Amino acid sequence: MDKIQQLKKHLADVVHLQHAAALLGWDQQCYMPHGGGAARAEQLAVLSRLAHEKFTADKTGKLLQAAAAEVKDRPYDSDEAALVRVAQHDYDLATRIPTALVEEIARVTSQAHEVWAKARQDKRFADFAPMLERIFDLMRQQAQALGYKDRMYDALLDQYEPNMKTADVERVFTELRGELVPFVAAVFERLDKVDTRPVHLDYELAKQEKFGMMVIKKLGYDLNRGRQDRAVHPFTTNFSTNDVRITTRYMKNYMPTALFGSIHEAGHAMYEQGSSQALEGTILAGGTSLGVHESQSRLWENVVGRSRGFWKHFYPSLQKMYPKQLGSIDMETFYRAINFVSRSLIRVEADEVTYNLHVMLRFEMENALLEGKLAVKDAPDAWNSKMQAYLGITPPNDAEGILQDVHWSSGLVGYFPTYSLGTFLSLQYWEKALKDVPSIPADIEKGNFSTLLGWLNQNIHQHGRKYWPAELTQRVTGESLQIQPFMRYLKAKYSEIYGL
Ligand code: ZN
Repeated sequence: MDKIQQLKKHLADVVHLQHAAALLGWDQQCYMPHGGGAARAEQLAVLSRLAHEKFTADKTGKLLQAAAAEVKDRPYDSDEAALVRVAQHDYDLATRIPTALVEEIARVTSQAHEVWAKARQDKRFADFAPMLERIFDLMRQQAQALGYKDRMYDALLDQYEPNMKTADVERVFTELRGELVPFVAAVFERLDKVDTRPVHLDYELAKQEKFGMMVIKKLGYDLNRGRQDRAVHPFTTNFSTNDVRITTRYMKNYMPTALFGSIHEAGHAMYEQGSSQALEGTILAGGTSLGVHESQSRLWENVVGRSRGFWKHFYPSLQKMYPKQLGSIDMETFYRAINFVSRSLIRVEADEVTYNLHVMLRFEMENALLEGKLAVKDAPDAWNSKMQAYLGITPPNDAEGILQDVHWSSGLVGYFPTYSLGTFLSLQYWEKALKDVPSIPADIEKGNFSTLLGWLNQNIHQHGRKYWPAELTQRVTGESLQIQPFMRYLKAKYSEIYGL
């Protein structure tokens, strides 16, 4: 057997172990009875350890070396060259962090989760502060172990958005801040222009589910290779490109949670389902980064799902389903209601207009904490003054401020920017899709989503992880990461809705 085949076979074992662990995780969040928790934690730990040991073994390094020599003359975008390149990248990341540090991070973050949850409940940051200091100390050690040239944050960011640099994120956020902060302030002056009642009516759950399933099926989420279940925190998971599952949650008096949650997760799932079948079972299947993944989910959720054209098609069926609630509400009123902007303190509830300012704040805080420019004890004040500067609001307590997100307690530093990178990319890809296939908006109005999905499949999905995010964006759009497509979209849409 040639070397590349040996490497493939070795890595396939790792992929299968990871997918088996993911299936146990899916079951844990969707169906497992409460009592199964302790045994499940053991099972998950064993599978994860076996996958990690197999992947970081010397054998992987040797196979990689041999395979690299074998593929050195193959084209850059051949499946074989890509497999070696991506496996080498993952192998370097996984082997650079000493086992003792991995274990210490796991130990501290599992304690930190409980301390954080309690501190949030009590609205007292001071109770969480010692843990947060410990976590940022571990993150500095992790960054040192991973290595970086320029900024410490580069090493952490690279784990979620390969090859992205802190300076690039700063460049786009600086540009964003200049344009978005005044725009948000102008919209906030006119919040009463939109009637939000249509989204808060009494929406029977069974009908919400039926409508949501009808929508995601029509968008192109393949239910022969996927399914939707309920979970407390919505997520997408997969055990193959041919078994990609999503979850959602329902609220009776707030319809957007389930519907836009389903569309969002279906966006992630269609990306996973769209990997070329040639990549199935290899580490090249699936999304190339968290940012590109988020570009897909946010494209479907916001640019498509919250558009007028989308509702021209779907609103009559929703009205028919809920005649008492929506019979006398016209489509235009409904369209404005699902796009309402609010002075939200909470990132996960934020609308399209304010969302990225919440992310920018976290990115700035993480950098300052990591580089020691901000002391942990001063972090709540820094948080609150940034909220005031960017959004004109100050959290009344730490639970609605610095304690709201789970990420830091889990040791996920460097993760937040991917939410915004995804938003910016979604509009860059969208503009290019419209240039290539001008009929897309008219197709959407007719309920035909296959032209858009086909374009995404062709240009983005099929490649899986073969191209790094910046390469992919360059190939697709001919440009590097830009915020202008996003700003154009946002200003046009919301100036109209709020009469600016
Ligand atoms: Zn997402």
